[in-house]
Order: sequence, then C-alpha cells, then structure tokens
Amino acid sequence: MHTTALVLFSGGQDSTTCLAHALARYRRVETVAFDYRQRHRIELESRLNVLRELRANFPQWSAKLGEDHVLDLAVLGEVSDTSLTRDTAFKMEASGLPNTFVPGRNLLFMTLAAALAYRRGLQVLVTGVCETDFSGYPDCRDDTMKALQLALSLGMDQRFLIETPLMWIDKAQTWEMARTLGEQSGQLNGGQTLIDLIVEHTHTCYLGDRRQRHAWGYGCGTCPACELRAKGYEGFANETRQRT
Ligand code: ZN
Repeated sequence: MHTTALVLFSGGQDSTTCLAHALARYRRVETVAFDYRQRHRIELESRLNVLRELRANFPQWSAKLGEDHVLDLAVLGEVSDTSLTRDTAFKMEASGLPNTFVPGRNLLFMTLAAALAYRRGLQVLVTGVCETDFSGYPDCRDDTMKALQLALSLGMDQRFLIETPLMWIDKAQTWEMARTLGEQSGQLNGGQTLIDLIVEHTHTCYLGDRRQRHAWGYGCGTCPACELRAKGYEGFANETRQRT
C-alpha cells in the first residue's frame, strides 16, 4: 500500500492540482522543484506562495504536507538553448516543438526526484505531465513515464510508482479536478477556495507577467501558456454555468 509521495511542484496550475491530488490521497507528501535559472524567478516565488496558502486554507492537508526541496539544476542552462532559460522569443521550431523544449528535461527531473524520494523514504512520484497538452513534449508521454518507472525502479532497486493524474485530461478538466479535490477536502467551500487559490497564486505565463489580472489569473494573455490556461478556464466556467 502506498502512503507517501513526492510531488514535482513548479508552482503552476497543473502541479498545484497534482499536489492537491496527493494530499487527498497520501499520509505524507513532500514537494520538489528544480532551479535551472529560469528566466522568470516568479515561478519559484509562486510555489512558496501556493504552499503558504494551501497550509493556511486547508489545515487537514497542511498536517500531511512535509518538507519542500529545491534542487539546483543550473547545468540544464548549459546544455540547452531554450526560450525558458535564455532571452530569446518564444517560437515553434522546424521539429514542430516549441523552443521552450529542453531535451530530456523531464527525464532528468524524474531521475533526481526518484533519488530524493529514495533518500526520503517516499514511494510515489506525482507529476503533472500531460499528453493532451498542446506542446507534444516527447518526455511528457505516457510511454516515457512508464519506461522511466521501470528504469528507476530497477536502477535503484526500489519499487517506485509514477503517478500522472493529468495525463489524459484537458485544462478545463484540470480546473474541474481541482474543484472536486477541494470539495472533498472537508473544508467548508473547499472547492471554490482551491479554485481561487490557483487563480490567484499559481503562475503559468512564459513571459513572467504578473501585472495583468484576468479571470483565470495573471499573465500576458497572449503567449501559448496563457492562451491554453485562458481557454481551459473558459471551458470550465461555461460548464459550471450550464450546470447551475
Ligand atoms: Zn503569457
């Protein structure tokens, strides 16, 4: 029986929903992020704000929420030339992948997360990778995760479970999942509280814009990450309106 988890937590909408998923399910949950000199430090700040707000608004989750880890991965900036770590404009490459793609990034993340989980005695690795996402990053694919689960379990001689709660759902369904998890938390108005928390404190925008506030949160509103988040939120809001 699995009772402990390590969540790859970047401070975005997806990983915050994954964190709520783990807190609803496991006895002890720790979080990890990777500092690879992202152009926008706002990501690393957002995650601390989200953790603080989760603790304040969901005391029953707070009791399960353990240590937060940030691993230095500056080397990633040395091996990749990407608009996430360098000051170049976002664009699509000839390969069909956006230039935010860092080759093998998730392979590295998962390997380091497993090493940390091993040391911390955590059994499940939870990550927000998703195949229905627009980007088509090959290291987010379900098969990649299944292969990694096997490789890491063999290579460290410990059975790891890689859990990907968002793998087959879209962004509207991710908002819906957050609301359901909030509702089931036992906290009064927990569903809306978690939605509000995600809107206000998580960060998605590629340009690091925290000045423009939309119904779905902060961001430039025009980069692919903002567009995806806005579209998902709109779908979720429409669905909610139809139901009430
Ligand atoms: Zn944006």
